Amino acid sequence: MNFYILTLFPDMVMQGLNTSIIGRAVERGCISIEAVDIRKYSEDKHFRVDDYPYGGGAGMVMQAAPVYRAYQDLKERIHKERIRVVYMTPQGSVLSQNMAQEFSKEEELVFLCGHYEGIDERVLELIVTDYLSIGDYVLTGGELPAMVTIDVISRLVPGVLSNAASAEFESFHDNLLEYPQYTRPEEYMGKRVPEVLLSGHHANIEKWRREQAIIRTLERRPDLFERANLTEKEQVFLEELKGKRKGMVEKEIH
Ligand code: SAM
Repeated sequence: MNFYILTLFPDMVMQGLNTSIIGRAVERGCISIEAVDIRKYSEDKHFRVDDYPYGGGAGMVMQAAPVYRAYQDLKERIHKERIRVVYMTPQGSVLSQNMAQEFSKEEELVFLCGHYEGIDERVLELIVTDYLSIGDYVLTGGELPAMVTIDVISRLVPGVLSNAASAEFESFHDNLLEYPQYTRPEEYMGKRVPEVLLSGHHANIEKWRREQAIIRTLERRPDLFERANLTEKEQVFLEELKGKRKGMVEKEIH
C-alpha cells in the first residue's frame, strides 16, 4: 500500500512515520510513505502558499493553486484513473476502526493536510474524495491527523504486524474493548497475574479474556454494546453484570 501526504511540513510526517513498527514496515516494503511538499508548488518568489480570507476574519487560508499543482504532479506520477484523496479536517466523518479497515483495501491513498484556517474551498471541491476527522477538537494542522490515520490503516496491511492475529483481536474487534494484558514477572508490587493465564488451559483463558472484554467494555465504553456481537451466554453474563452494578450503586445510595 502506498501513502502520499500533501503537506507544508514534510519533515514532520516523515520523521514521525519512519520510526518503530511503521518505519520497519516501510523498510521491508510492506508499505511506502511519501510526503509531497506543497510549498514547492508555489509560484510566489518567497514561496508563499497562504493569503487573507475573502470576507475578512482571523488567520490565513492556504491557496488553491499550489495544492492543485502538487496534486496534479502526483497524479501524473501515480498514473491511475481514480485516486482517493482524503482531506484531514475537523469537519469530516470521525475515523473509526471500521473506516480504517475500508481504507486498507486501497492500493494508493493521498492525504491532504491543511494548516492555518484551512484550504480554499474550490480546490477541495476539485480533488477531495473523503473528508476525515480524528475527533471533535481542532488541531493546528492536518499532519498529526494524517499520521494517526496512516498508523491505524498500516497496522491492517498484511505483513506490517509481525503476528497477523494481534490486529484481529484488539479493541474494537467485535465492538468490544480488549481484555487486560500481563507480562513477566508473575508478581509485581504485590499484584499477581490472574491464575487462569498461568494455567496453560487455552479454553479457560479464552473464556476469561472474553468475559474481561465484556466487563471492561461495560465499565469504559458501554455505548459499544449497541453493535457488539455477543452470544446468548455472553448476553446473560452482561445482564448479570449490569444487575450486580445496579445493586452496588443502590447499596451506596442507602
Ligand atoms: N478553520 C477550520 C475549521 O474550523 O474547520 C480549522 C482549521 S485547523 C486550525 C487547520 C487544519 O488542521 C485543518 O485544515 C485540518 O487539516 C487540520 N485539522 C485540525 N483539526 C483536525 C481534526 N480534528 N481532524 C483532522 N484534521 C484536523
